[in-house]
Amino acid sequence: MKTERLYYSDSYIKEFEATVVSCEKAEKGYKVVLDKTAFFPEGGGQLADTGFIGDAKVTDVQEKENVIYHYVDKELTVSDKNNCKLDWEQRFLRMQSHSGEHIVSGVVHSLFGYDNVGFHMEEDYVTVDFSGELTRQQLDEVEEKTNRYIYDNIEIECFFPDENDIESLDYRSKLDLKDGVRLVRIGEADLCACCAPHVKRTGEIGVVKILDFMRHRGGVRIVMKSGLKALYDYREKYTSVYDVSVMLSSKQHEIASYVDKKIKENETLNRSFNDFKMQIAENDKENLTYIGDTALFITSFYDSDMMRELANYGMTQKEICVILSGNEENGFSYVAGSLNFDLMRFAKHFNSALNGRGGGRGTMIQGKLTATKENISDYFNNLDLNSL
Ligand SMILES: [Zn+2]
Repeated sequence: MKTERLYYSDSYIKEFEATVVSCEKAEKGYKVVLDKTAFFPEGGGQLADTGFIGDAKVTDVQEKENVIYHYVDKELTVSDKNNCKLDWEQRFLRMQSHSGEHIVSGVVHSLFGYDNVGFHMEEDYVTVDFSGELTRQQLDEVEEKTNRYIYDNIEIECFFPDENDIESLDYRSKLDLKDGVRLVRIGEADLCACCAPHVKRTGEIGVVKILDFMRHRGGVRIVMKSGLKALYDYREKYTSVYDVSVMLSSKQHEIASYVDKKIKENETLNRSFNDFKMQIAENDKENLTYIGDTALFITSFYDSDMMRELANYGMTQKEICVILSGNEENGFSYVAGSLNFDLMRFAKHFNSALNGRGGGRGTMIQGKLTATKENISDYFNNLDLNSL
């Protein structure tokens, strides 16, 4: 038996009485059919309503051949009358989103001639795919026009036209609807076939904001928010902009250019700093200590780039070159290089003698060790590479 859809005639029903027609065990919980329902089943891009039938929680609603199935967590008795209650907060946000999407699609169609070829409602945002590409500037125009339709507070009419009238009506989304064609008219803004509940007047949408857009299958996919969802989004982003502007002591609408300027300054500073570091390593070439087959340098502030730079030079002067940076308390980082000697053989001996770890391959190895400067000097004074 076909389920009577209460949301067709009144999308504002939050609570209603209905009789249980059937209740069958489902994979998880039960699947219930009522004689009539205000619960919207998933479809047309919109998510299913949730709520309660009696004290049974409705977790999903699906439609099959004009019968609406409510998935609930408790068994219900057939023929019993139940008080049913929708999660209205959730439903209203979805109505704002869906009505907002219709206006945007109508405006895109009228301004640029593109069709809505995909609509998806997520819990937090909506995506709409159009058959042609749009620029940011064009989307600004769409957003502006959409919001002006919202201020006009136009009535949103949902109706089933006569079969004779259908032919003459120019509406979007000409799909074969099973239950007759239901049209949603938003004044001059849009006329579209749709099975979902909508707000009564455009003013209730509040605001529509297009947040993002990307190329998609030869057209464009936009990400948008309407109503309270858009307000929450604005609030969250405002907080972020506010915090950043305070941190940077910059005006809110100037933070992007301010950050851009700071990033460029930072890049210049980094380049200067790098040149400076390399100059220090260059100058320290003459401070290398030569002990037997080793070129050695111990410092406290070198980073790995500086250590490698100096090691590259030292290894051309002696069989191996070892650069250490750090202190006795926290340990030393080291880089060792050699053009000819097998550094893995050296590393094993060196690490075990000076409480180190690390390795690598090729002509350079690196690691960390903990030892006193005296121990390090002693090690190199007694090192005989030929015996390793
Ligand atoms: Zn729709």
